[in-house]
Amino acid sequence: MKTENNLPLLGKKVVFTTLGCKLNFAETSTIGKMLIQMGCERAGKTDKADICFINTCSVTEVANRKGRQAISKLRKKHPEAIIVVSGCYAQLKPDEVLQLDGVDLVLGMNHKFDLPQLLTQIKAKLEQPKKIIAEDIRKVMDFHGSCSADDRTRHFLKVQDGCDYFCTYCTIPLARGRSRNGKIEDILKQAKMAIDEGAREIVLSGVNIGDFGKTTGENFFQLVKALDAVEENVRYRISSIEPNLLTDEMIDFLATSQRFTPHFHIPLQSGSDAMLDIMHRRYHTDLFAQKVKRIKQSMPHAFIGVDVIVGARGETEEYFEQCRAFLETLDVAQLHVFTYSEREGTRMLQIPYVVPDKEKKKRSEILHQLSEQKLQAFYHSQIGTNATVLWESKAIHGKMYGFTENYLRVMTDYDAKKVNRFEPILITDQNIAPNPSAEA
Ligand code: SF4
Repeated sequence: MKTENNLPLLGKKVVFTTLGCKLNFAETSTIGKMLIQMGCERAGKTDKADICFINTCSVTEVANRKGRQAISKLRKKHPEAIIVVSGCYAQLKPDEVLQLDGVDLVLGMNHKFDLPQLLTQIKAKLEQPKKIIAEDIRKVMDFHGSCSADDRTRHFLKVQDGCDYFCTYCTIPLARGRSRNGKIEDILKQAKMAIDEGAREIVLSGVNIGDFGKTTGENFFQLVKALDAVEENVRYRISSIEPNLLTDEMIDFLATSQRFTPHFHIPLQSGSDAMLDIMHRRYHTDLFAQKVKRIKQSMPHAFIGVDVIVGARGETEEYFEQCRAFLETLDVAQLHVFTYSEREGTRMLQIPYVVPDKEKKKRSEILHQLSEQKLQAFYHSQIGTNATVLWESKAIHGKMYGFTENYLRVMTDYDAKKVNRFEPILITDQNIAPNPSAEA
């Protein structure tokens, strides 16, 4: 029987807002499951919530601003609710977040996600209105596995957290701590559980997943091989991997895998070797070019997306031009262009040359145009090829959408029977659809 004793938050209505990366989505999903186990229900669109949970991002100053806006919006919509804030912004600036109008409870990235702790914190708040920063916010961080499904039928499986690289522009190691991971056997169990729940596509997520294994004496390639050996009707994507950790051996294995998709997301950050040194990245452009070449030799149809930052401190016109020229030569499908923003506590602030905002904007536009050219060329090169699509559930104006293994977004007339199913498809200029996640 459901009682207040075994379901301490029975009947409380909760809403979730998640900003930022797929890891945050996976972690929100874990907290959501816990709250539901404690008796909470998800609030409907017109309901007044009792608890609002916001998982924030802090990758740029814009991300912090979006967090503040989300908090303010929820406070207006749910004036009586407990507002709980978690994520990188909360971890990096707990006192600032706690001072925001409406915030009641601040949880760090280190939150232990165990029911008794969460229960105590939330119950304390429910019974005794008072602003609280969770005790755990400055403690040593552990690894907490999580997995979430989005409305596009993909599941995001967290395999690693934190980063030891300390690139000079980045606050993520400050927010998420040192590199750590779960055991391969535990991750396999989580993957199998997701498959049992209907997952047909699993995205391996983490902060620096190529660095997997630091805490368990294993490595990322072993994880890839173990997942590949799971005999199920499922495919995997690797969310993003540092170029120096993407070994040739792994590329060759992925080229023959039936389950890992020919889809790569590789952070470059700059195509100028001088800038890579300023950023303290662990490779130069020759290594990056070699990785792209090797992928395309064994998987010519592979989709490769590349992250680039424009306007970082020290990026002179000459360095930017080196970057643009290098990117032009790369056989990749898309650039994810980010404009540098100053982050407190980073070593990049010691570099004296600051790129003016107007120049940053101009550089961003140049690389966005280059990205669009590359994307169109990639789409064009795939017309007439055969692929396998996994159809998603959403119906938009009578159409349904899905991604092929090499990350082409395609569409067809909506048919409920196709949802979450693989189907062979011939790519034509009629069924190819724009990718809404071009800025992801
Ligand atoms: S590899 Fe560099 S950019 Fe990526 S999370 Fe680690 S420190 Fe940040």
